[in-house]
Amino acid sequence: MPDRRLTNDRLQYILYDEYTAFDQVHRQLADELVQLRRLVADFVDPDDCWFDHHGGCQAHGYLSLEPGEICPHEEAKQYLAEVNADA
Ligand SMILES: [Zn+2]
Repeated sequence: MPDRRLTNDRLQYILYDEYTAFDQVHRQLADELVQLRRLVADFVDPDDCWFDHHGGCQAHGYLSLEPGEICPHEEAKQYLAEVNADA
């Protein structure tokens, strides 16, 4: 995981102010990143996790989490909070 996320603010700056300097591959990557972030935000369940006595998340059906793993819904929420943070 990178030390710092590319925040949405920075991504928008890149897309609108530096877009013309991009080559085709970078434009496609940036466009796909915007699309994927929108999809993650749409798919993530806003409900909190709740765990059974085995450590699995019953709320989201991730019943086989290993020690130290977090539910992907919580991981996605943390990711979205990082990329939506002010730079
Ligand atoms: Zn969960």
